[in-house]
Amino acid sequence: MRRILILGGTSEARELAARLAQRNDLAVTLSLAGRTAAPAAQAVPVRSGGFGGKAGLAAYLTEHHIDALIDATHPFAANISANAAQAVTTTGVPLLTLQRPPWQMIAGDRWIDVNDVDEAVGALGATPRRVFLAIGRQDVNAFVAAPQHAYVVRSIDPVEPPLALPHAEYSLARGPFDTSAECELITTRGIGIVVAKNSGGEATYGKIAAARALRLPVVMIRRPPAPTGPTVATIDAAAAWLDHALASATRRGV
Ligand code: NAP
Repeated sequence: MRRILILGGTSEARELAARLAQRNDLAVTLSLAGRTAAPAAQAVPVRSGGFGGKAGLAAYLTEHHIDALIDATHPFAANISANAAQAVTTTGVPLLTLQRPPWQMIAGDRWIDVNDVDEAVGALGATPRRVFLAIGRQDVNAFVAAPQHAYVVRSIDPVEPPLALPHAEYSLARGPFDTSAECELITTRGIGIVVAKNSGGEATYGKIAAARALRLPVVMIRRPPAPTGPTVATIDAAAAWLDHALASATRRGV
């Protein structure tokens, strides 16, 4: 039995876990950061909470005799990805990154590309606007620096404490979000601009398509640099990489 650790918190991680759960030659564990109060159900055993940095992750890999590590975390979760890259240099465990490709601007899109959340705050400008903040709850505090705007903040769990802003409404929801529902939200809440992370994938693309349809600008936060090392974009490719990595280890007698 080969032991696989998936670093998760994404729909791709959940789908990969479901795919690998069907195999009787693998014991798969999915790791979550533990930020979401009621995480989605998973097809494999879950461990939750940080490892304690790169050394903690390396120790986990060794103690649990992990044969392969798959980093399927969100493209913006740069710290855990850096820890994974470091942990495998000391343990020698094969590492794959599973990461969805970023969205690309197409005809009709009005994107304002920015490098980070602070730049996104600045890109909203001085004139008051109604802003759809669709970046999850972790980074929304930065927008307290621009209290002239009115915000609709969407997240899975509540923003606590609420933002120190005079005009903020909250929308609690878990994706996927389709385009027509996003158009309705944008229209009924009188939104004039959307702030998004370039997460990629289908589940949260609805707001981007809706903004295009309604001719609204999107402040699009670029991804942090991608991890180096083997990277794939699909569940099929991840499963193929895993077979190859495990077969190579068997040949080496590991
Ligand atoms: P991060 O900044 O890269 O990670 C911060 C710390 O959280 C890590 O150093 C690690 O703690 C712990 N951690 C993160 N992911 C973990 C995992 N899958 N299993 C165990 N520990 C984990 O990550 P983040 O941006 O806060 O994101 C947290 C989680 O939410 C990730 O799993 C990510 O996939 C998911 N997520 C993030 C975003 C986003 O926009 N950032 C969006 C959707 C989902 P230790 O150093 O103690 O090990």
